[in-house]
Amino acid sequence: MTQGDGVDEVETDRASRPAGAWLALTRALSDFLSARNHSADFTSTRGRLIRERITPLALVLAIGLLAWIPLEYFLVEPHQFKRLATARLVAAAAAFSLYLALRRARIRPPTRGVRWRLPLAGLLLLPGLLYAVARLPGAMGDAELVASGYAFFPVITVTVFAIFPLTLRELAGAYALIMAGFLAVEATAGALLAPAPLQLLWLMLLAAAICAWASANHLRTLLQLYRQATRDLLTGLLNRRALGEQLEREARRAARYGRPLTLIMIDLDRFKRLNDEYGHLVGDQVLREFARRTAATLRDSDILGRWGGEEFLVGLVETGPDRAEVVAERIRRACADAPLETEDGGAVPFTVSLGVGPVRNGESLEEAIRRVDDALYEAKRQGRNRVTVVPA
Ligand code: GH3
Ligand code: MG
Ligand code: MG
Repeated sequence: MTQGDGVDEVETDRASRPAGAWLALTRALSDFLSARNHSADFTSTRGRLIRERITPLALVLAIGLLAWIPLEYFLVEPHQFKRLATARLVAAAAAFSLYLALRRARIRPPTRGVRWRLPLAGLLLLPGLLYAVARLPGAMGDAELVASGYAFFPVITVTVFAIFPLTLRELAGAYALIMAGFLAVEATAGALLAPAPLQLLWLMLLAAAICAWASANHLRTLLQLYRQATRDLLTGLLNRRALGEQLEREARRAARYGRPLTLIMIDLDRFKRLNDEYGHLVGDQVLREFARRTAATLRDSDILGRWGGEEFLVGLVETGPDRAEVVAERIRRACADAPLETEDGGAVPFTVSLGVGPVRNGESLEEAIRRVDDALYEAKRQGRNRVTVVPA
């Protein structure tokens, strides 16, 4: 099932235990470092957010590049002006085209992978190229470079990253490219070891450190809020709202591409009695254990969440009812085969009943859920601890 900020998040709640604290720390660090530990739904949300920020930035850049041309007329030598104005026009046209392309390719809800790296790299290449044009043939002197504002371009390029929630790995990659480009331009201009470029490099490094800090904190806050908004506190699974949204998204995808999507509704058996017999806290532990075992039987692309109380819902993407029945049976056995072992050495057996059924093409998710719920009711009626499939 959806990994990362998924069910293993349960572990970080036990911060009172040393192992839990250590796990929480390593997880927090890995959140900063790379997107590998983020769930697919967070990655797609973050991608969308980044693209939403690139779009106005492209427009601002296009306007800024054009607006500066009249000012530049007074700031640079006449022989430089023509070349720079042409470069600005070309760069502004490119930025504006990117803006239009991003606006046109509005991300539709079923999209999973959101492309933002290439648009961002393309956008930030433009000030870099302008800097190169200003710096290279017939190079501007240092004073002119500062007076015309071009000296600030490399620093501004580095600073822009503060507005995006990026991982340290992404930032390191971007900064390495920017610095390498800057050094290549300076080397070509024969000014690699001159004081001005070295000062600029120093400033870029400082700005990069501060912006990386801002960006990584931004990412962490976003991740924390996202988890709070989408996760069930007890089990760490998707909460009902996030579950509904993701299932809706998958249902739309399945309908559009004619792919199968099957639901499994799961309800813990005689849970009221279990609570009465062992206490509510043990009941909570059973729910966590159920979540852990179920998550372990599912694939990354599958969707698992808490529908309410002791009811859970699974969405199996690219899976028909036959295969889903096998998965449901595996979940049933994962629960029935071994009791929960409590910390005081007790054993608490628990079982689940499951209803399985497809989301048929053309029907709403609610209809599919209602039929799967009926199948679950049938499993209960037949004696519980079993799987029932919606009749074809
Ligand atoms: P059935 O086999 O027919 O599903 O019987 P049941 O007792 O499981 O069903 P019922 O709907 O009557 O009871 C559900 C129980 O689940 C009642 C409620 O207290 C308990 N429950 C719901 N949420 C939680 C929770 O978060 N923690 C604990 N410990 N119990 C919960
Ligand atoms: Mg129940
Ligand atoms: Mg119930």
